[in-house]
Amino acid sequence: MSDCIFCKIIARQIPSQLVYEDEHAIAFKDMTPQAPTHVLIVPRKHVAGLSACGDGDQALLGHLQRVAAAVAEKAGIASGYRLVTNNGRSAGQSVDHLHYHLLGGRSMQWPPG
Ligand code: AMP
Repeated sequence: MSDCIFCKIIARQIPSQLVYEDEHAIAFKDMTPQAPTHVLIVPRKHVAGLSACGDGDQALLGHLQRVAAAVAEKAGIASGYRLVTNNGRSAGQSVDHLHYHLLGGRSMQWPPG
């Protein structure tokens, strides 16, 4: 998608602080971190969000969670982290390319705001 900021990061058209990449996913530091560790786990394939995923995306969705766990391990936060996806504007989604926020390095509150 030519107007998608995450597609541009994946295509290296704009810079990012990459922490992981493979054939199906990349992970980079959020530009507005909400925790000491705040990494976005993003599929290379453009899909607008979790609700836009279909049965054919099942393996990809599982893969993204495996990537998140690996990134958490590498970041030293495996003992406590939160993995979040915002789906839709009312949930706080601002970029319409599926992504998971990996947050850690501080205490978390529940329920989230
Ligand atoms: P969401 O609001 O759940 O859609 O999350 C989008 C996230 O992308 C926000 O936390 C932004 O800070 C982050 N973000 C937007 N543009 C960039 C960028 N160019 N590099 C890194 N993070 C970004």
